[in-house]
Amino acid sequence: MMLKSFNIPRAHNFIGGVWVAADAEIEVIDPSTNRSIFSIARGSAADIDAAVKAAQTSLDGEWGAMSALERGRILIKVGIAVLRYVEDLAKIEAMDVGKPLSQARSDAVALARYMEFYGGAADKITGETIPYLNGYTVYTIREPHGVTGHIVPWNYPMQIVGRSVGAALAMGNACVLKPAEDACLTALAFAAIAQEAGLPAGALNVVTGLGSEAGAALSSHSDIQHISFTGSVSTGQMIQASAAKNVIPVTLELGGKSPQLVFDDADLERALPILVNAGIQNAGQTCSASSRILVQKGVYDIVCTRMSEAYSQLNVGAAMDDLSVGPLISARQKQIVSDFINKGSDLIIAAQGSIVSEADGFFVRPTLFKDVPPDHLLARDEIFGPVQVIIPFGTEAEAVKIANSTDYGLVASIWTKDGGRQMRLAKMLRSGQVFINNYGAGGGVELPFGGVGKSGHGREKGFEALYGFSSLKTVAAWHG
Ligand code: NAD
Repeated sequence: MMLKSFNIPRAHNFIGGVWVAADAEIEVIDPSTNRSIFSIARGSAADIDAAVKAAQTSLDGEWGAMSALERGRILIKVGIAVLRYVEDLAKIEAMDVGKPLSQARSDAVALARYMEFYGGAADKITGETIPYLNGYTVYTIREPHGVTGHIVPWNYPMQIVGRSVGAALAMGNACVLKPAEDACLTALAFAAIAQEAGLPAGALNVVTGLGSEAGAALSSHSDIQHISFTGSVSTGQMIQASAAKNVIPVTLELGGKSPQLVFDDADLERALPILVNAGIQNAGQTCSASSRILVQKGVYDIVCTRMSEAYSQLNVGAAMDDLSVGPLISARQKQIVSDFINKGSDLIIAAQGSIVSEADGFFVRPTLFKDVPPDHLLARDEIFGPVQVIIPFGTEAEAVKIANSTDYGLVASIWTKDGGRQMRLAKMLRSGQVFINNYGAGGGVELPFGGVGKSGHGREKGFEALYGFSSLKTVAAWHG
């Protein structure tokens, strides 16, 4: 198994810079073949406790004593080291989560980029001086929270680990990372790479395991000072409740039902490939997937025809075959997405892609529905699979109303050449990010990212994340 490149033993956690054997293990299944390829630790509350203690020890020791410049240099070295291992990481990710190889490669490069970005940013976060009463000098300092907990999902393991852990480490926190049980291998490999590149022991600890065991133990641990969670709304609600008990800040990146609004004057040649890719990238298992395509009546028929043509050409197969769409992460996810497609039996299927693999993987045909009423379940609920709905609209006001009509608000895009409409709608759309004549599902290390409504709160990525991973101290000095 390729994890040999990183000397990662089976069923071990990474705590305090060493591999620690766990009492129990979980099989790792390759979603392209439904075969077991490895086993990871089924971490316990005791493992989490050991990891939290190791993180605190690193803060009390070498890691906590480093200057921002030194931390930044180490993170940049980690990023450069990740770049050396892009091919290994991509292959591991492809087998672990079924991501087509070139998409897995992009994620590995993005992981490196997060380290470079946050490494460069580490010594550029400053405080301010505040005019106050005569005889005082007042200034602010940004300080790390301390030990931060990071619970990540399975859909973009490398990118989400990168954005969350990268920003936390840059600010001087020590991290305990609990990857999703279906997607742990690149997190373990990353910990090994980071250590090799010079990250001190205990600054990053990885405990794998189930959400209800290791995840719950981490989010409720009384010595964690911040928790960053990416995943489903229901788990996010539990995490927020645990954080409330310990009175600690929490960042929640949850789901979405992100719309793209295509107006009659849109540049369709530019828009069409992006409209489709934003829905089928990573087999639609993207929190910021664009699952709703709202199209104005004047171009409605042509957009339906052209998107249908694109869907008919989509081939689904094993991750290593590197087709446009790979398998879903698990048999469970395949069932969930298939059930959703069946719930659209009263709708018109405009087109579907084809499964070309002979293997027994978790494949689902990408499915495009058209003429979908905005209040239909498929237009409101997050599906998390390669399914898009096309919804017609007449006026700008109608488009905004439909776009804002779900519980979510993560990403939206506006396709129009009308500058006034671009500015107006960018303000009116209820969404954490708005793209104009573009769409960025998942990308953009530099761009603050996060949701409104049930999509969550707090921001990751960009400089903004560094504020979330620190607390502000005000110093008021009286000198007369
Ligand atoms: P999930 O909520 O089941 O799991 C996410 C993580 O939480 C995993 O590591 C899991 O082990 C852990 N977890 C589960 N139960 C827990 C508990 N009781 N206490 C602590 N941790 C627990 O979600 P998922 O099925 O892994 O991911 C799919 C969902 O995540 C989708 O709804 C998707 O939209 C969302 N998501 C959002 C983003 C984003 O950036 N907004 C990114 C990826 C996924």
